[in-house]
Amino acid sequence: TFKAIVIDKTETGQQVRSRDFDEADLMEGDVTVRVAYSTLNYKDGLALTGKAPVVRRFPMIPGVDLAGTVEHSSHPDFKLGDSVILNGWGLGETHLGAYAEKVRVRGEWLLHLPKGLTLQQTMAIGTAGYTAMLCLIAIERHGLRCHRGPAIVTGAAGGVGSVAISLLARAGWHVIASTGRPQEADYLKHLGAAEVIERSELTGPARPLGKERWCAGVDTVGSHVLANVLSMTKYGGAIAACGLAGGMDLPGSVAPFILRGVSLLGIDSVMTPRNFRLEAWSRLAHDLDLVKLEAMTTTITLDQVVDAGQAIMEGKVRGRIVVQIG
Ligand code: NAP
Repeated sequence: TFKAIVIDKTETGQQVRSRDFDEADLMEGDVTVRVAYSTLNYKDGLALTGKAPVVRRFPMIPGVDLAGTVEHSSHPDFKLGDSVILNGWGLGETHLGAYAEKVRVRGEWLLHLPKGLTLQQTMAIGTAGYTAMLCLIAIERHGLRCHRGPAIVTGAAGGVGSVAISLLARAGWHVIASTGRPQEADYLKHLGAAEVIERSELTGPARPLGKERWCAGVDTVGSHVLANVLSMTKYGGAIAACGLAGGMDLPGSVAPFILRGVSLLGIDSVMTPRNFRLEAWSRLAHDLDLVKLEAMTTTITLDQVVDAGQAIMEGKVRGRIVVQIG
């Protein structure tokens, strides 16, 4: 057996507790990994609290990201002792996840530890940071560069937001950070934000077209915030949408698309093909300021993860959380 956080279904909802898990009950896979670190993302908060039905199988071990060492492998690309990472692919949703001392997974989901990063740093980045990089790459593929105008980041003090700010700033962008926590302005400026605006500027009903304020953006919030961000995007600009912290709806109009040629770039990290992941991780290893990464990261133990899951749902987590397991 090994120690894990386990979600069981009950008549009234779900029960989450730390307990011993039998290795024989692990799911199918050709690689067994001894987990060293995991992390806490918004989606892990949804799973731990049961606030949205992200868990598709019970019992479930939550945790969508892991970094660890191969303990057994029959996959040709991985051998005993290899350092590996995994983000998404249904881990913690349909496949037993990372809040455990051991996982058994399909080798095709694993990546070798990116050169230049430690196992701990890959989990400080986690799905949140890797998604921020997918957003930046999508903006660049759209042909946008920093000389075109500012970039907005919403949900700025969260995990995706914090990494997005530091990546965009490092790439030369004038970053406007939108937050509901103005007390975090110094933190956001330290990460590279040039301006900090209040979330409330973006939460009212969106006009079809507003004043043109930015030419690119990373939105982690959705709903009214995204609708307002689009309505204030400059001619030919693009917004990468990856989140729903403010809601899943999009109460806006097509005016920004058809009158200003604005584009909405959809970002999904879970099923991103392997080649694109390799590109994103290699860029993270080269482009992310690791001193800033450390400044945005807090470390907790497996026993603290349930409380932290509640806190991230309440919008109280700043930056990134690493879960130390090994
Ligand atoms: P997080 O750390 O909780 O960040 C979310 C931030 O959004 C919060 O810190 C807060 O920032 C803001 N926020 C929270 N509640 C809000 C509300 N009710 N209305 C408006 N703003 C609110 O979570 P995360 O791990 O960075 O993830 C951010 C979002 O991206 C989540 O929705 C997550 O599901 C999504 N995501 C998607 C993908 C993908 O593949 N598409 C991958 C990773 C994450 P401020 O306090 O600064 O306002």
